[in-house]
Amino acid sequence: MLKIYNTASRRLEQFKPAGEVVKIYTCGPTVYNFQHIGNYAAYIYWDLLIRTLKMDGYAVKRVLNFTDVGHLVSDGDEGEDKLEKGAAREGKSVYEIAKFYGDDFLRNFRALNLIEPDVIAHATDYIEADKRAVDKMTEAGFTYETTDGVYFDTSKFERYADFAKLDLEGLKAGARVGFNSEKHNASDFAVWKFIQPGEKHAMRWDYLGRPGYPGWHLECSTIIHEELGEPIDIHTGGADHIPVHHTNEIAQTFAMTGRELSRYWMHCNFITIDGEKISKSLGNVYTLDDLAERGFSPMDFKMWVLSGHYQGTRNFTFEGLAATKQRRLNWRNRIALLYQKASTASLVDGVFKEVLSVVNNNFNSAEAFSIIDTSELSMEDWKEIDELFGLNLINDSPDVNDAVRDLISERQAARENKDFARSDEIREELKSFGIAVEDTPTGPIWQYI
Ligand code: AMP
Ligand code: ZN
Repeated sequence: MLKIYNTASRRLEQFKPAGEVVKIYTCGPTVYNFQHIGNYAAYIYWDLLIRTLKMDGYAVKRVLNFTDVGHLVSDGDEGEDKLEKGAAREGKSVYEIAKFYGDDFLRNFRALNLIEPDVIAHATDYIEADKRAVDKMTEAGFTYETTDGVYFDTSKFERYADFAKLDLEGLKAGARVGFNSEKHNASDFAVWKFIQPGEKHAMRWDYLGRPGYPGWHLECSTIIHEELGEPIDIHTGGADHIPVHHTNEIAQTFAMTGRELSRYWMHCNFITIDGEKISKSLGNVYTLDDLAERGFSPMDFKMWVLSGHYQGTRNFTFEGLAATKQRRLNWRNRIALLYQKASTASLVDGVFKEVLSVVNNNFNSAEAFSIIDTSELSMEDWKEIDELFGLNLINDSPDVNDAVRDLISERQAARENKDFARSDEIREELKSFGIAVEDTPTGPIWQYI
C-alpha cells in the first residue's frame, strides 16, 4: 500500500485514489532556455511516482504543461516575460524559442527513460479556456481590474494562507512602498495582464477589449480543469511552488469551480551543486549534455537522483556521480553473471516485493537500492527492478553477441594451447566491445567495463 507525504496535510497518508484512474498533474518547464540537472531531478522523482503507481496496479492519467507564454522572471507580476527574454537573447521569435527548448526538454526526457505524460499541454493552446476561467472568477466576485490587468483578490478566499501557512500580515509589511499601488492586498496576483501602449509583447490575445496575455499561475488551473477535472488525485511540483504558484492555483480553482484542486500534493526539494545553489554566476548550471561530456550517461544521473529522497536537500558532486556510475556498473555485471549461469530460476523469493514495499513507503528508493546491493537477485527480479526505476539495466547490459562469444572461446582455446600472445591479443579485442574477461578455476567469466 502506497504512503505519500501530503504537503497539504503535512502528514504521511495512505494513498487512496478517488476513482478508477489516478489523475496526476505536474507543473512543467518554462520553455525559454535549457533545463539544468536540478530541473530534471524533479521529473525523475515524479517518474518514480508514476512507475510505483503502475507497479501497484493503478491506471494513471498524467498531464504535464509547457509554459510557453506569460511566465514573468519573478513570481510576482513584475519583470520581463521569460519567453520574450529568450527571444530577445537569441534573435528568434517567441514561438521558435518555445519550440526549440520544448523539443530539447523532450529529448532529455526520453534519454532519461521517463514515462511520457498522457497529455503535454502547451499553455498557448488554452487561451480561450483561460478567458472563460477569468470570466468565472469575476462572476463569482474574486477579481478586480486595474490599469495593467485583472487581479485575484486573495482576501476573498478565506483559506488563502492555509496551504503554505503564509504570514499575510508580514507580507503586507514587506510589500514595497509604491509598488503597484492599485493592488488591494500584497498577495493579490494577476490572472490576466493587459499589454500597455508601447509595451513589446509578441504573444497577445484580445480580451476585455484590449490586447493581453494570461497570468502565469492561470494555465495550471485551466489545464487541470480542461484535461482532468477537479479534484485531481496528485499534484506535483518543486518546493518553491508552495507559497505562491500552488497557493494561487488552489485559489483560482476554488474561485472558478468551488472545488478543491488536488487531494494529495507532493513537493520535491532543491539540489545544490558542491554545496552551492545552481546559478549562472557560479557557472554550475550543468545540463545532461555537460554530464555526458564528462563521461556520465543520463542513466547514471537518474540513478544518482534516485539514491536519495525527493524531500531531502541533495548535494550533487561529480565524485558522488562517479560512485553511482560504478554502482550501476556493478549491477549490470551482476546481470552479466546471471547470463552466464545455466539456470535463471528465482534464487530468493520475494526480494522484489521487499524493494517495492520500501518504495511504497513514501518513495524510499535509497533503502531499496541498499536491499538490491545486498540481496541475491534473479533475472526476474532485475526485470521488475528495471520496470520500477526505469534504469535500463538490462537494455544497457545485453547478453554478448555471437562474435564476442566466439572470441571468448577462441581465447580459451589459445590459453589451453599455451598461446598466451594470442590470448592477450583477444583480451584487447574484447575490450573494444566493452567486455573484460577474467579467468577463474571454473573457466573464464566476462564482465562489462
Ligand atoms: P522553470 O519554470 O522551467 O524555470 O523550472 C523551474 C523549476 O525547476 C522550479 O520551479 C523548481 O521546481 C525546479 N528547480 C529549479 N532549480 C532546481 C534545483 N536546483 N533543484 C531542484 N529543482 C529545481
Ligand atoms: Zn503549476
